[in-house]
Amino acid sequence: MTWTCPFCPLACDHLEVRVGSGAQPLELAGGDCARARRALATFSSAPSAPLAEVDGRAVSVDEAVAAAARLLAASRQPLFANLATDVAGARALYPLACASGAICDAAPGEALMHGLRALQDRGQFTATLAEVRTRADLIVFVGGLPLALASGIRERLGIADPQVPQRHVVVLGPGEGDEAALAGWAGAGVTVETIALHGDLFDTLSLLDALVAKRPAMASATLPENLRALAERLHAARYAVLVGTPALLPAQGALIVETLHRTVNTLNRTTRAAALWIAGGNGAGTANQVFAWLSGLPLRSRAGPRGLEHEPLRYGSLRLLAQGAADALLWVSAFDADAAPPDNGLPMIVLGHPALAERVRRAGSVFIAVSTPGIGSAGHVFRTDGTVLMPLHAARPDRLPTVAAIAQQLLAGLPARKAA
Ligand code: SF4
Repeated sequence: MTWTCPFCPLACDHLEVRVGSGAQPLELAGGDCARARRALATFSSAPSAPLAEVDGRAVSVDEAVAAAARLLAASRQPLFANLATDVAGARALYPLACASGAICDAAPGEALMHGLRALQDRGQFTATLAEVRTRADLIVFVGGLPLALASGIRERLGIADPQVPQRHVVVLGPGEGDEAALAGWAGAGVTVETIALHGDLFDTLSLLDALVAKRPAMASATLPENLRALAERLHAARYAVLVGTPALLPAQGALIVETLHRTVNTLNRTTRAAALWIAGGNGAGTANQVFAWLSGLPLRSRAGPRGLEHEPLRYGSLRLLAQGAADALLWVSAFDADAAPPDNGLPMIVLGHPALAERVRRAGSVFIAVSTPGIGSAGHVFRTDGTVLMPLHAARPDRLPTVAAIAQQLLAGLPARKAA
C-alpha cells in the first residue's frame, strides 16, 4: 500500500509500514530511516482504543469534550500551541481559535518565524525537492547537515542520483559528525567538501555574500581561500541550491536567512540559484499555511476584540507561558509521542498521541487521544518545500477521533457568548 511518512518535513512516499499483531510495534519496510523507525515503534499493531481523561480520571470522549469546552469558555486568553496536526485539523482549529480569541503558535515557532520574517521583508527564490534532485549541480548546506531533523535528506535531494552527472556538496559550518557523514556521501558523480566558519554563521554568510557580489573591498581582504573558491563555484554552477535548517539557526536567525536570500538574488542575475529550507515538520508548516490562507496572517496571530493581530515575537508560546500571559492551554500533538507540553500550571487541554496521557495526567487537565494522520487515519500535510501537499494514508486505521472532529465538537460546545 502507498504510505507517506508524516514524521518529518520531507514526507517521503517510497517506504512501507509492516503491521504485526497485538502489541507488536509498527515497523518500517522497503528501506530505512532511523527517525521513521523510532516514530513507528510508538504505535502498536492493534489500534488504540478511544482514551479520554479529565483531572486524571478516565471518562468518555464526550465528557472530556464537554469539560474542555467549559475550560475554554472560562478562559480570557487561551493559547493554542504545538499545532501538530494535518490540514483538516488546522482548518477546524482556526474557527475555534477565532471563537475563543486564542493566540496560536506552532511548537518550533522560533524556527518558523526566522523564515517567515525574512520572507515578509524581502521575498525569496526557493526550489522543490524534485528540482534539486533533477537539476542542482552544487548543493551547499549552510550551518550543518539536517540529519537529526530529516534523516533522509541525502536521498530526497538525489545526491548520488545520476540525473545530474556531477554534483559538488558543501557543508558550510559543519556540526558534530557532519564531516564523517559527508565523507560517506562521496562517490561516483559526487564530490564533497566542508568549510569551517570564519567568525560565526552570520559573519561567514555575510563574507560569502560580499564575495559573490564582488564587492571591491573583498579583493584585498584576508579571507580563507576555500570561501573565495566557494563564491567562484556558486557563480560557475548551472544551478546552485543553498540548503538551510531554521531549527539550527541561533536567535535572530532571520538575519541569516535574509543574507542567504541576498546571495541567491545576486546569483540569479547571471546564473540560476535557489534556497531550500528544511522546516515545517510536526505539522508546523501545515498549520501555518492553513492559518495564512484562512486569515491572511501566519501563526503567532490572534483573532480577538481588536481584530486580527500578528505578533511574531510577543505571541511566542514559550514567552507567553513564561510571562503568565495565557490562562489556558490547548496543546495539539497528533504525531509525536514525546511532544509533551512544557511544564505549566494552567488549565490544559491536550489532544495527542495516546502515549501522552500519562505525561499530562494532573488536576486541571483534559486529555483526549487523537488519531495520527498517516497511521490511524488519512489526511494531508505540506512538505518542506511548501508548495507540495502530500496525501497521508492510514497505515492501520483506528477508531480514535481526529483533531478536526474534536475541534468541531469543541466549537459546537462553546457557549454562545464565546462563539458569537
Ligand atoms: S526522512 Fe523523514 S519523511 Fe522520510 S522516512 Fe525519514 S522521517 Fe519519514
